[in-house]
Amino acid sequence: MYLPQEIIRKKRDGKTLTSEEIDFFVSSIANETVSEGQMAAFAMAICFQEMSMSERIALTCAMRDSGMVLNWNDQGYDGPIVDKHSTGGVGDVTSLMLGPMIAACGGFVPMISGRGLGHTGGTLDKLESIPGYNIKPNHSIFKTVTKEAGVAIIGQTGDLAPADQRLYATRDITATVDNISLITASILSKKLAAGLDVLVMDVKVGSGAFMPTYKMSEELAQSITSVANGAGTRTSAVLTDMSQVLASSAGNALEVCEAVRFLNGEYRNPRLLEITLALGAEMLVLAKLADNTEQAKEHLMGVLDNGRALSCFSNMVSGLGGPVDFVEHYQDYLGRAEYIRPVYSESSGIVSAMNTREIGLAVVEMGGGRKVACDRIDHLVGFERFIRLGEKASLDKPLAVIHARSEDQWQEAARRLKSAIEIGGGYQETPNVYQTIRTADN
Ligand code: URA
Repeated sequence: MYLPQEIIRKKRDGKTLTSEEIDFFVSSIANETVSEGQMAAFAMAICFQEMSMSERIALTCAMRDSGMVLNWNDQGYDGPIVDKHSTGGVGDVTSLMLGPMIAACGGFVPMISGRGLGHTGGTLDKLESIPGYNIKPNHSIFKTVTKEAGVAIIGQTGDLAPADQRLYATRDITATVDNISLITASILSKKLAAGLDVLVMDVKVGSGAFMPTYKMSEELAQSITSVANGAGTRTSAVLTDMSQVLASSAGNALEVCEAVRFLNGEYRNPRLLEITLALGAEMLVLAKLADNTEQAKEHLMGVLDNGRALSCFSNMVSGLGGPVDFVEHYQDYLGRAEYIRPVYSESSGIVSAMNTREIGLAVVEMGGGRKVACDRIDHLVGFERFIRLGEKASLDKPLAVIHARSEDQWQEAARRLKSAIEIGGGYQETPNVYQTIRTADN
């Protein structure tokens, strides 16, 4: 038997906790026998003293095992269980295409996604722009849709990693979110509870990323790959660029619209295509569904071009309660805001930088994200046809097209967008994909 305060003291003094101590503390979080104050002190001690790799693995496994861990072995799936997770960004709609693309290549993707956090958009908020789409199906529907469509994107249920849910709520109000050990355990406990064979982490870098510097993004990527592999799930991480809005749009229904157009071949933003293919290829190779990256990219382009990825998306939407003809009539189902007009820069010149975080916050301010947890999302607002870094803004080329609910909202969004986009400074091209981090055994 341990005392929570002694475990906190040990960590506070920079000592290494045993896995038994970590298990005890985490099960006390889950069964609510430690107080919010003790959780806060534990998290703060970790922020000051960090955790060794073996402590991080113990913390992750204990949080994963604090609730239900899904098991796919007895369900007759004839392919690997594969997923990807992103640290979050603006216009990051990759999950909506990648899930169906991997399904069409023979993987099964039971993706547990999150809502928008801070300035970043959330996959669940995007999917809820589809009328009828149920992000909280029961386990039986989740498993059936994953089996039949190959992919099901849903929200976290209360029985997956409950210790993380409680600890995260305390971290959120005690300045203990941005710590690599805690983030690693928090993200992975939820992902590993989904019973994955393979996970690819998309760790963002740049002005819209969760981590403030390249070095910290790299450290997080390294921590996640080491811990996930240490906990028994084949995992790698890809560092991708978030120094500008990733897709051509930012806003919930607008991004769903872009995902459908990407899948049906109407329009594929080249940056989004490159990053989606890089992540997808890593997933296929790690899942042994392709021999190498080139072959994996060919498979992925194949299922985009022959419509199989689109049909997996369509089956997922209808399987989870959305319209059966959603991909044929998505524009009618999604609807449109009332005030839609382009916004132009005050001077013409090359776009040299974007404050992507500010652009994400502009979407939140319009109602496309939440300022407090109980806010209702407005799915129709946001930006589309975003200009890209290195392009010339002019009277012929707007910065973006704003979708707003009122003239005042349009004006405010235009003001924020103009101040977030720098014109005429020196522009230095950066890669879309920086590096892939694998461990020795994958
Ligand atoms: N997302 C999570 O799920 N947990 C964290 O700690 C940070 C981001």
